[in-house]
Amino acid sequence: MDVYLDNAATTAVAPEVAEAMMPVLQEAYGNPSSSHAIGRKTRVIIEQSRRSIAKHLNCHPSSIYFTSGGTEADNLALRGAIRDLQCERIITSDAEHSAVIKTAQSLERSHGIQLDLVRHHEDGSVDLNHLEQLLASGPKTIVSLMHANNEVAVVQDLKAIGSLCRSNGALFHSDTVQTMCHYAFDLEALPVDFITCSAHKFHGPKGIGFLYIKKGIQLGGQIEGGSQERAVRGGTESTHNIVGLAAAFDLAHSDMEAHEEHIRHLKATMVTGLRALFSDVRFNGNSDDASRLYTVLNVSFPPHPKSGMALFLLDLEGVACSGGSACSSGATLGSHVLRSLKFHDPNRASLRFSFGRYNTMADVEFALAAIKRVFS
Ligand code: PLP
Repeated sequence: MDVYLDNAATTAVAPEVAEAMMPVLQEAYGNPSSSHAIGRKTRVIIEQSRRSIAKHLNCHPSSIYFTSGGTEADNLALRGAIRDLQCERIITSDAEHSAVIKTAQSLERSHGIQLDLVRHHEDGSVDLNHLEQLLASGPKTIVSLMHANNEVAVVQDLKAIGSLCRSNGALFHSDTVQTMCHYAFDLEALPVDFITCSAHKFHGPKGIGFLYIKKGIQLGGQIEGGSQERAVRGGTESTHNIVGLAAAFDLAHSDMEAHEEHIRHLKATMVTGLRALFSDVRFNGNSDDASRLYTVLNVSFPPHPKSGMALFLLDLEGVACSGGSACSSGATLGSHVLRSLKFHDPNRASLRFSFGRYNTMADVEFALAAIKRVFS
């Protein structure tokens, strides 16, 4: 038996999604920019998908710009704000995904922009007083703070951060890659200018996502070429992936509450099981708390001689989990998020278990038994 508990890295494509994509792959091959009927048919499919996604988010379809995923969407927002919207400063945090933090650092080097990092409280939440102090002076700014942290599950208050940005004349981008389709969004009500989405985090295909851009904000072309995506992002649209993204949205929104309940139940069982196994287990970022991202549990195991091998040994036992974000799991330095939030302890193995739609109670029991063997 193999158990997959790395759903924050990526998820399996849902059968409903694959089913929606197949006829597009086989039949809707026209270039959506072509003027003939076969091309126009593909254009209709893309625009139907855009409308359907926008409806779930309560926003205008023209606010959705398809991209290759979360990384590109984060880049588009930050680079666009500097290049096209006269922002001269980025305020972000060192616990952001590398798609944001590395882009901000790169813009600091290439464009000489000011880069300010907001502090966190001990529990990993953003220090709003510090953010307010930073926003009180300085040049035109874009704030980029993620909704839920992909490693330690801390959820930030988007409404509070967005309102602070609004009242100080700053733009607000949030990387919502880990929360999109796990929580309901009402973008008419939420004070955000940009949010990002990646389909493969909620049982959609890899290589597709979008940037939501609030109506009235106009970015210039970032990938030069054709005038696709209203000339913001040239390149022939990935029609089958766009249809897969829309199908994954439909699936997630068809049973969001039941899905959340299912996963919360699995996570709670995992927490109870780990507490029964180890008197000194800790949950980084209070990721066991109900207020945290319900799909992610970051476990700090008690000091043990096999700590350094834990991820590898669990893999041998048939349990797939992670030591951080998938992008950093191969790095020897460990997780930049754990270090920046001061959760890193060199004596302890910190592992992320993340749950998805297809996990079962048997998976959790299997993982607990494997963990017991590894740490025995
Ligand atoms: N942002 C967050 C919070 C993520 O977890 C990820 C994926 O690991 C990304 C961005 C990047 O998304 P993608 O893999 O679609 O480029």
